Amino acid sequence: ERVSHPLRADRSKLYMADLESALHYSLRVEAARASSLSGAQLAAFKCYVATLVKYFPGRPCVQTYLQTLDAWLRNWTEPELPRTVLKEAMKNKRDASQPSVLPTNVTWVGCQGSERHFRGYPCGLWTIFHLLTVQAAQNGPDKELPLEVLSTMRCYVRHFFGCQECAEHFEAMAAKSMDRVASREEAILWLWSHHNEVNARLAGGDTEDPKFPKLQWPPPDLCPQCHKEERGVHAWEEPAVVTFLKAHFSPANIYMDYAE
Ligand code: FAD
Repeated sequence: ERVSHPLRADRSKLYMADLESALHYSLRVEAARASSLSGAQLAAFKCYVATLVKYFPGRPCVQTYLQTLDAWLRNWTEPELPRTVLKEAMKNKRDASQPSVLPTNVTWVGCQGSERHFRGYPCGLWTIFHLLTVQAAQNGPDKELPLEVLSTMRCYVRHFFGCQECAEHFEAMAAKSMDRVASREEAILWLWSHHNEVNARLAGGDTEDPKFPKLQWPPPDLCPQCHKEERGVHAWEEPAVVTFLKAHFSPANIYMDYAE
């Protein structure tokens, strides 16, 4: 089910509907495609859910959903997890005293494309991982486990992301430089700068939504202080970028418009 709204989303905001739609799609559709999970793929799935439990700033029923799924996965010690069993474990439990619910409808707001085949899920997945890198930096010691979120993303993309070519590009970028990230703050910047590298590569291509041209982000109208010029050449003011990312990808900037 996919709902379209004739809306103009605000580019300076995050929308819970995008985040929950992307979570639903990644957990229940994309990651549950194989007839069973085992080995590194099962480990990548467990790791993704454990990271979401730690850092995803969800509504109470969604946090309960993630915690319940995480506890269930930790209990699953057999080498193979059949899809049918996993799908059953991922169902909502609305009637409990503490509802455990991740909405099953897919509604794109900030990630809505001008046509069905544009934007949507990949936009939502980027947003989730930016949010996680920022929340990990805000909620833990800077130098401890700097790669916690990035390596979770790397594993998720490698084992599950439906666009094979995208996964290969991302893995190549990760293999080149991800290991040099030494703090949680650097992890925020690594994901930001590599997402911009992807934006630059895709600009003008046929996957670009003409209504949402690929930009080096954040553009000057969203963050004027993020930009500077050095000898006539554009450069980023990185401390301002970090400040901007921490505010943009914060729970206070998540809006409930169109959430179920
Ligand atoms: P997206 O690039 O999806 O960005 C989503 C939102 O994040 C934007 O609307 C903006 O608010 C914000 N944002 C934009 N840039 C940044 C940034 N640098 N830092 C923080 N926030 C930002 N498509 C291909 O065709 N080829 C590929 O190889 C490819 N590789 C991909 C790899 C990964 C890991 C992912 C998740 C997606 C990949 N995609 C690829 C899809 C592509 O990157 C876009 O997600 C898709 O085209 C939708 O674009 P969009 O306009 O919604 O913006």
